[in-house]
Amino acid sequence: MLEKNKNHLIDITGMTHEGQGVGRIEGFAVFVDGALEGERVEIKIVKVNKNFGFGKLVNIIKPSGNRIEPFCEAFKHCGGCSLQHLDYQGQLDYKDRLVKDNLKRIGKLENVIVHNTIGMKEPLNYRNKAQFPVASEDGTVITGFYARRTHDVIDSAECGIQDKSSDRIRKIIRGFIEEKNISVYDEKTGKGLLRHIMTRVGFRTGEVMVVIVINGSGLPFHNELVTRLIAGAPEVKSIFLNINTGDTNVILGNKNVKVYGNDTITDYIGKYKFHISPLSFFQVNPVQTEVLYTKALEYADLTGNETVFDLYCGIGTISLFMSQKARKVYGVEVVEDAVRDARRNAEINGVGNIEFVAGEAEKIIPGMYERGIRADVVVVDPPRKGCDETLLGTLTDMQPDRIVYVSCNPATLARDLNYLEKHSYKTVEVQPVDMFPWTMHVECVIMMTYCGLKGK
Ligand code: SAH
Repeated sequence: MLEKNKNHLIDITGMTHEGQGVGRIEGFAVFVDGALEGERVEIKIVKVNKNFGFGKLVNIIKPSGNRIEPFCEAFKHCGGCSLQHLDYQGQLDYKDRLVKDNLKRIGKLENVIVHNTIGMKEPLNYRNKAQFPVASEDGTVITGFYARRTHDVIDSAECGIQDKSSDRIRKIIRGFIEEKNISVYDEKTGKGLLRHIMTRVGFRTGEVMVVIVINGSGLPFHNELVTRLIAGAPEVKSIFLNINTGDTNVILGNKNVKVYGNDTITDYIGKYKFHISPLSFFQVNPVQTEVLYTKALEYADLTGNETVFDLYCGIGTISLFMSQKARKVYGVEVVEDAVRDARRNAEINGVGNIEFVAGEAEKIIPGMYERGIRADVVVVDPPRKGCDETLLGTLTDMQPDRIVYVSCNPATLARDLNYLEKHSYKTVEVQPVDMFPWTMHVECVIMMTYCGLKGK
């Protein structure tokens, strides 16, 4: 039996999908934050459950050859990155193993080709969207991030995965709030004006949008803040106040008031242009998104005659990529605003062979299939919970030649591949892509082909 507060020496033999090290004590699995596979460590047991426990890292007896000093001083507390103590190659290897392990354990896929995770050449400052909470600590204004598993704000001046302009911008805003004595929001009491600072950057255009989230209808002296922002950060092309008076931990409210510049900023993925407004969804790592979608297009293997379904299409990014080589693309997405953005994106890119449909894929696709609309190639890019079984059932009835599965969760991916494998599809290749360096997240793109008798 494990006992709380007891110290042990253990070997870390694996890592969880959350980036914790795992070792064993008398058959019990013990999870240790901050420990790496291959290490021998001293831990103190801090929590014991029926079949497993949690240990606190006390001392590293034998470090992993991939252990590095985290570049961010906030690493220990921050809820953002969890693998900064592992060098970049180590992270990519970890992601390879995570994907293979899920495919084998959950998907029962033994002999599938899993390529090495495609990493970034420069895995820093890769995010184009930052959302910094603002709070007050002993009378001083702080901005930074939420501590791991809580909503306590921890002060930090720099974030190494965000675009650099975001730190410069929040410094200006923070100085302004201090000087003007503007109150900051307190989640516990629901009082105070300034809640969050959001910045969005168009990586290719260099344009920046600033969104200041407030618990009220206006920001005192906002014209002065605008002047300071455009003087201190000339890349700022658009400034909004976002009104969020709700007693909620949702960051953005529904109402935006423009106080400077353009309604949108622009960015590109591949040759396609996107207008980004304060609330619109856009992939946060545009460099790797292009890598991912190029792979998805390659796996779709289009000749120009195909009908393609892009399911869970968001603002139509994959649909646009597919449209260049397909006869016709249907994009299906449940969020109506995203569908509106998708239609506009097709229009500003002069693309006429895509039709977007609003609704749940598992409801829309059976209906379309019944009306005789079928696809030669289907792309799915579902949220973390994966695809609904009704949808997978319709796809296997419809028998497209290829299914390209884009996934942000290897566990639900493996579950869905298992289903498709049981219904005449074969997983040909799996390509993991690192969209989120220093975190435990991994994105995958998979090619499956139909290998049954058509019409059966
Ligand atoms: N392919 C897009 C978005 C992927 S995120 C891109 O790469 O940008 C997953 C998307 O699925 C989200 O936009 C979400 O709103 C949508 N979604 C979630 N459940 C859905 C469902 N049941 N049917 C259709 N779309 C859904």
